[in-house]
Amino acid sequence: MKKEEFEKLLLNDNYIKKRKDPSKSEIQLYLREVNYTCPLCGDDLRNNKQKKSNALYEIAHIYPNRPTQEQYKALLNLKRLGENSESFENKIALCLKCHKTQDYHTSKDEYLKLVNIKEKLLKRTETYNATLNLALEDDIAIVVDKISKLKGEDFIQLNYNPVSLNNKFSNNEKLLKTKVSMYVTEYYPYILDLFKSLEGKNGFHLDVLSSQIKTCFIKMEYENENKQEIFNQMVNWINNKTLDISKEACEVVVSFFIQNCEVFREIAE
Ligand SMILES: [Zn+2]
Repeated sequence: MKKEEFEKLLLNDNYIKKRKDPSKSEIQLYLREVNYTCPLCGDDLRNNKQKKSNALYEIAHIYPNRPTQEQYKALLNLKRLGENSESFENKIALCLKCHKTQDYHTSKDEYLKLVNIKEKLLKRTETYNATLNLALEDDIAIVVDKISKLKGEDFIQLNYNPVSLNNKFSNNEKLLKTKVSMYVTEYYPYILDLFKSLEGKNGFHLDVLSSQIKTCFIKMEYENENKQEIFNQMVNWINNKTLDISKEACEVVVSFFIQNCEVFREIAE
């Protein structure tokens, strides 16, 4: 193929995009992803403190950013990671030596090997994030357990009067809606199961609790039309009552009640 023809071919390949240097924080993500070790040879990628100016790593393209005609042919019809050559999925931290070899001699086997390594790393990060969610689930379970033990007088302490009207005209109802619906999708069945397992124990009934919480919501809505403030107030109240275990867990639980009690109609929809 003539050089111009090949250039045209590259231009028409939507996967191949102009090189974009990773930012400092992206570099940290790439290094953390491989645990500061070159995934091909095992060399340490962390800087030696004495000569900190010479980085021991480079962020390499897995599918070459500018393939030669030979490379392009060798890699034709093979799986490509990410949306385009500049996606996070198509880059990986390598030591300088391995990067050099990989850059100039990307054979089909070497390419597939790196694709395979990167896919495993991506999967591992995904699992790690799922574990973070599990930690939140544990916190939710504690919050739910504590809520189930609340007494009628606890609700009297909830302050129905608006604390401030500063944000009355603020536009974060949309943000709140996004947050609530995200939490509901993710955790509603889980929380419902938790409450079901507590049903009847020590006089706890989800119906009773729900109607108490619903009353609180309705009273607060009479006093204040800012849903974000009501949400915050409710979260703070539950957070205090559950001894400050996790604010996020409390937000998830309040979202559960927004759905369960059918309050905040325009938000819960
Ligand atoms: Zn290496």
